[in-house]
Amino acid sequence: MLPQKYDYLIVGAGLFGATFANLAKNDGKKVLVVEKRDHIAGNIYTENQEGINVHKYGAHIFHTDYKDVWDFVNRFADFNRYTNSPIALNHGKVYNMPFNMNTFAKIWPDVITPKDAENHINAERQEIKGTPKNLEEQAISLVGRTIYELLIKDYTEKQWHRSCKELPSSIITRLPVRLTYDNNYFNDRYQGIPIGGYTKMVENMLTGVEVRLSTDFFSNIEHYKSLANKIVYTGALDEYFNYKLGKLEWRSLKFEDKVFEEENHQGVAVVNYTSHEVPYTRSIEHKHFEDAKSDKTIITYEYPADYEEGMEKYYTINDKKNERLAKEYKLLAQKEKNVIFGGRLAEYKYYDMDDVIKSAFEAYKRESK
Ligand code: FAD
Ligand code: UDP
Repeated sequence: MLPQKYDYLIVGAGLFGATFANLAKNDGKKVLVVEKRDHIAGNIYTENQEGINVHKYGAHIFHTDYKDVWDFVNRFADFNRYTNSPIALNHGKVYNMPFNMNTFAKIWPDVITPKDAENHINAERQEIKGTPKNLEEQAISLVGRTIYELLIKDYTEKQWHRSCKELPSSIITRLPVRLTYDNNYFNDRYQGIPIGGYTKMVENMLTGVEVRLSTDFFSNIEHYKSLANKIVYTGALDEYFNYKLGKLEWRSLKFEDKVFEEENHQGVAVVNYTSHEVPYTRSIEHKHFEDAKSDKTIITYEYPADYEEGMEKYYTINDKKNERLAKEYKLLAQKEKNVIFGGRLAEYKYYDMDDVIKSAFEAYKRESK
């Protein structure tokens, strides 16, 4: 067999593809990245509008406990000290997120100390006997019914378009519950936003790597496969197999951007809307991520949506049916010679950015053995 032109053909210029490409290039490998969109960076793509880096596929805050991942991203960008502290709005009242002493003191006016908050929560969580069986039971056993109804139930039902009784508890255990006056949304040791935007960071990761934009791997799969010894595939798992076992389900989102002729519209980067009276789940004021100086401000309203053909695939649906189907596809993927499946679409996983990078590290380490 003739040697191929490239060691790796990487399908997708998102975080998984860019991390893998960077590691391989630094090892002297020849790499080609094909990306079907007309830009790099996948879903962490940011675009400068009015002097503000707008997160075009949803707000992204980098946070991690992995020192190696933090050191890695800091090679491609300077990170600021942004700490995510969203507020929740319900019927005109403001609450701090995640669930912490500020939240408890606002909801129960007699709460001052952690003991006071614990007394309320413990009294309310009694209603759940045994191990929580679904998101509703999990939420009540974590913070009690009052907070569940005020800050969780409607938001979650808007987001997932399902009753909290039908959703897995794992979705809500992502959020911290703290008996301290600390509004940091994440528990991780490292957190921040890359100054200058994520696109610039990914561009730096891809320095020296050949990237072809607006190029769909499936437009000429045999040709692209013939170019390289190995494929790193970060597109959708079921699409790779032409949906032969059926389609995996996704949740989608619609974003509505508005420019306001004022400096500061909501006073915080992220507002969560936790009641059904407002149709969107979040509004994002992008300038607060990087403290951008501009007379104007851009707000993005995030509307959850059922996935339909042609929309973006944002959230995996981790119910039994989809988990089973994903498992079957993963068995097929294991049998696929010289193809590495990685990232949120190809692994059908609800992945944060740091986990995507970590998983690309591991995939590359397996290669170098
Ligand atoms: P992607 O970024 O989707 O990259 C895959 C790339 O492959 C895409 O560019 C796609 O166009 C390309 N592609 C697909 N098929 C083909 C094909 N056939 N041919 C060529 N190219 C193809 N994580 C955090 O850590 N913090 C956050 O605050 C955060 N916020 C989020 C908010 C939202 C609304 C969502 C949905 C996710 C959020 N995440 C967050 C998760 C984060 O977006 C992902 O972990 C990360 O972007 C996944 O990177 P990836 O490379 O796996 O996928
Ligand atoms: N959630 C909630 N109320 C909020 C914020 C989040 O009930 O104000 C729940 C909701 O079910 C959501 C989950 O917590 O899907 C995880 O929230 P996170 O902010 O981590 O979601 P993501 O940023 O991944 O959309």
